[in-house]
Amino acid sequence: MSARRPFIAGNWKMNLDHLQGIALVQKLAWTLKDASFDPKAVEVAVFPPFTDLRSVQTLVDAERFTVGLGAQDLSPHDSGAYTGDVSGAFLKALDCAYVIVGHSERRQGHGETDEVVNAKVLAAVRHGLVPVICVGETEEELERHGTSAVPVRQTAAALAGVPSGTPVVIAYEPVWAIGTGKVATPETAQEVCAAIRGAVAEALGADDAAATRILYGGSVKSGNIAGFMRKPDVDGALVGGASLDPVEFAGIARFPD
Ligand code: PGA
Repeated sequence: MSARRPFIAGNWKMNLDHLQGIALVQKLAWTLKDASFDPKAVEVAVFPPFTDLRSVQTLVDAERFTVGLGAQDLSPHDSGAYTGDVSGAFLKALDCAYVIVGHSERRQGHGETDEVVNAKVLAAVRHGLVPVICVGETEEELERHGTSAVPVRQTAAALAGVPSGTPVVIAYEPVWAIGTGKVATPETAQEVCAAIRGAVAEALGADDAAATRILYGGSVKSGNIAGFMRKPDVDGALVGGASLDPVEFAGIARFPD
């Protein structure tokens, strides 16, 4: 068992308006409480759409729920004439601790290159947000380059210019496993997460690599999480679809049971 605190992160994507988001977080918090979940042992965070962040933050504060908060994206810029963009400064002001950067749905659907992802990582760091940097290969890249080459390249590019000692989280999400019901084997996840840890060591140093949490993402469910969590270099999961059901998501967070 590593000293890294496991991290279970729920990426809601473009689902749930602010009222539905409040209902989900309430149910999630009660379900975890009923199950005597120990937040010191496992960290849980949700990543709602921008429009839900204020409502969820207020609820988490008022009820003292031990659920962390993050956003799904941020602008590489701090402020100014960038219609439709959201600054990391605004996310920080809403008590977001985390921000997802470089999710494959943004790399593919919004043309985000390694350079854009790097600029967003640097913006997150500037504003004191921990970036949850998504990396992962498409099915075609898997056939052409094998398992680790693309995630390692993306990790190195994302961390360019990030100073040692900066907390970051990396999520290995094979694109072919996202929302498809196809899951990487725990063995493959371990192999790639170990290679990613090597890339973090090159970029930030061995101590940072040992402290960095590396998650697996792609069709994670309560029924398959345990196999991943047994692997030494897998420190948690980034969960999409299954995070929209609070009972199922709580089941993932309780993987050691
Ligand atoms: P999924 O999504 O769990 O629905 O496969 C994971 C993600 O995109 O982060």
